[in-house]
Amino acid sequence: MTFEQLNLSAPILQALKTKGYITPTPVQEKSIPAILSGSDVLGSAQTGTGKTAAFALPLLQLMSDKLTTHGGPISLVLAPTRELAIQIADNFNLYGKHLHLKQVVIYGGVSQNPQTAQLRNGVQVIIATPGRLLDLMQQGFVNLNNIKYLVLDEADKMLDMGFINDIKKIVAKVPHARQTLFFSATLSPEIKRLAGSMLRNPVSVEVKHEAGTEFLVEEKLFFVEKNNKTELLTHLLKNDAEVTHALVFTRTKHGADKLVRALAKNRIHSMAIHGNKSQNQRQRALDDFRAKKITILVATDVASRGIDVKNLSHVINYDLPEQAESYTHRIGRTGRAGATGIAISFCSNDEKDLLRDIQKLIKKTVPVRSHDVTFSATPAVDHSERERRPFNRSGRPGSSNNSSGKSKHPRQRERVSRERNFNR
Ligand code: AMP
Repeated sequence: MTFEQLNLSAPILQALKTKGYITPTPVQEKSIPAILSGSDVLGSAQTGTGKTAAFALPLLQLMSDKLTTHGGPISLVLAPTRELAIQIADNFNLYGKHLHLKQVVIYGGVSQNPQTAQLRNGVQVIIATPGRLLDLMQQGFVNLNNIKYLVLDEADKMLDMGFINDIKKIVAKVPHARQTLFFSATLSPEIKRLAGSMLRNPVSVEVKHEAGTEFLVEEKLFFVEKNNKTELLTHLLKNDAEVTHALVFTRTKHGADKLVRALAKNRIHSMAIHGNKSQNQRQRALDDFRAKKITILVATDVASRGIDVKNLSHVINYDLPEQAESYTHRIGRTGRAGATGIAISFCSNDEKDLLRDIQKLIKKTVPVRSHDVTFSATPAVDHSERERRPFNRSGRPGSSNNSSGKSKHPRQRERVSRERNFNR
């Protein structure tokens, strides 16, 4: 299958050629014809599968076919984070560079004036995070009466981030006579309900994430006690020549900052990206990381969602994610678009429940590796735990010992989980 066979117009094919895309990815093969034929789409695919182009290419084509220069925006794309919104806008710009469409990207944390100025000048495409968009709508800067194409990208994340009411208010202002494209990495009952309320006879497009990760990402796991994680990370960053460009995940914003400071003490330069950083700081860190001016970026899940950085050598889970699904999102940052990457996870004693949940979700055991680091301060519990978890014959960590995660009282686990969420 080629892009020509998908009936995309010459200006778009030209842009794809410049970008070096030769064959459509599975989500593009399935979505593009459906969208061009006017159907609603319910897509279950995550970042890294080429889903941005899967909706951006046909939308650009449909919009350029019907283009009128007045009458207000005709496409609205909603995304959970500022970074993802910017990235989607970059994609629209690249694929649409031979078309004459104007767009604005709207997100909070920065002055609204440049955004409202662009809106006043007239745009055909709005790419926005829900909070700021609703704010500008309420101030009378945005009119959605002419929207014909509505996209919800990473809908599950938008729900996780508490945008449900904002989304409902925004969608209520979009005309019913529209085409709706709804993408989500997971299809929980709640997501299906929301999709059901917005879509009409949608074509379902499902791209299994396992396919992408199994082939392209090599996964490794180190059991390491909490207070030895920084030393192990420093060792890997200094001694493993393969680690050339790494995205490191911590559970909390505070943890990300603390890690950056600790690495600096070991003369390793890194930057952090999380929700407490200003939008400019976040964008600068991301730009520097993309340009490889810095090679280590420390991130929390929320800030990193959807980030597309080419040719990452490593994703390192300094802390395991609280939600198992985040594991596949995180490691999907490496091994993208045909490149192979390595995902390293650290697991401390108190994270074994999380590891169990992840392995249940990905339906496999992450291969455990040993290291030769002698830590400066190793608590006794660390040794005993590792010794109690010998490999069984299949090379997997032993499952007969107490890794069932039932040791904590449920209410205690819930409290810990709430506290962690709060700090993220
Ligand atoms: P996405 O899932 O939209 O974040 O895309 C993941 C990465 O794949 C991005 O870097 C895209 O530029 C790239 N990409 C998307 N479609 C193709 C394609 N058909 N061929 C090669 N790379 C692609």
